[in-house]
Amino acid sequence: MNSHDPWDDDDPFETLSDLEEIPRKLYSAYTSKPFVTCLMCSRPLIEQDVFQIQKIFRREECILELAVCRECSETMALEYSEESKLAILTFRENSLQLLDDDACDFCAKPRSEFENYTIAAVCRNTSILTPIQFMCNQCEDKLQELLSEKTRDIHGNFIKDHFPGVPTSKDFHPTLV
Ligand SMILES: [Zn+2]
Ligand SMILES: [Zn+2]
Repeated sequence: MNSHDPWDDDDPFETLSDLEEIPRKLYSAYTSKPFVTCLMCSRPLIEQDVFQIQKIFRREECILELAVCRECSETMALEYSEESKLAILTFRENSLQLLDDDACDFCAKPRSEFENYTIAAVCRNTSILTPIQFMCNQCEDKLQELLSEKTRDIHGNFIKDHFPGVPTSKDFHPTLV
């Protein structure tokens, strides 16, 4: 297990070799192709440093998907309250265990016991740099409860701006990875 935060270092992936291609499950469900641009700044992901992909599933259906470049992700995180940042970090450090594909990486519950979940990973160019993190909706709720009002508002506005059809903000965790 590695609880190291890939966003924190200058280039934590420099020494990695034999990188894997981004798997199809992290392709856009909308286009069936890899994500092309950052959701927030619209710049091509291929020209960016690392970027993060997140897909939220309700049963087997992907209801929300996004790719956000490191710069935008960091800019958004700057607005989080200190208590939320600490809560997210502590939650991840205490819970993240990176299991196989068929269980929540945070509570170890098997995939058969929940319907809704989020997957996320950090990528660069066409390669995936971290294992895919898998979080069940109960762990999503638990993490959400730890966040301050201010941080929840930032998430809420983000969803309103980028996904006008999505009624709730509580599913989105830009700092999951
Ligand atoms: Zn961006
Ligand atoms: Zn869980």
